[in-house]
Amino acid sequence: MKRLFLLLILSTQIHARVDEMPVRAQGEKLPRKTFEKIINLFETTFSPLSRANNRELVFMTDYESDWIQAFARRWEEDQVIVYGGAAAVTNGSEDTFALILCHETGHLFGGRPWGEDFNKLSVEGQADYWAASECFRKILPGLSVRQASASSMTLCKSESMCARSVDAFLALTAQFADNRSLPHPKLETPDETVVSTLQFTHPSPQCRLDTMMAGLRNLPRPLCWFLP
Ligand SMILES: [Zn+2]
Repeated sequence: MKRLFLLLILSTQIHARVDEMPVRAQGEKLPRKTFEKIINLFETTFSPLSRANNRELVFMTDYESDWIQAFARRWEEDQVIVYGGAAAVTNGSEDTFALILCHETGHLFGGRPWGEDFNKLSVEGQADYWAASECFRKILPGLSVRQASASSMTLCKSESMCARSVDAFLALTAQFADNRSLPHPKLETPDETVVSTLQFTHPSPQCRLDTMMAGLRNLPRPLCWFLP
């Protein structure tokens, strides 16, 4: 992990952000030790995927920053840039922070559809889908044990990893909705949009929740962003 001391990069040329609209976090920030523990867990878990392509995976962080922001890019290294506000989302936890990092690593390792062929960065919807279908279940056992909500435990038939995933999906997509002054996404109100072309940019918060739930359940990618 490298410490990053840069101003927030607002360039519209970087497509692989966690959300389009950087806002300052309102939640309680995870302690620095916890933040670094989780970053290290990601480096350990996913470095082999970069090394398989003779590359390095590097996380660059600025814990002090309160921007809810992170992004991924493929430069001389596979890089994930993480601002401290990502660890302070409203109703956040180690789980929501890890979900943000899963989205970013999803840009690097999530596979097709890619935004651009030359750098093989997955589009936003695919980063969410891979986050839920592949990454989160690998990372969760390395996080502090957390009691899932009763409603998610019911939905998941008392399987706690599933229930913690649902809790994290709901909390993070609620934050995305707040960023855009939209109503919070709900499990029972899926986005009915059917795209006619693949969506490269961030889907609606509801579509993102639907995508994460589909990933968790190994269901097809929703048509609110994906074009089969
Ligand atoms: Zn993204």
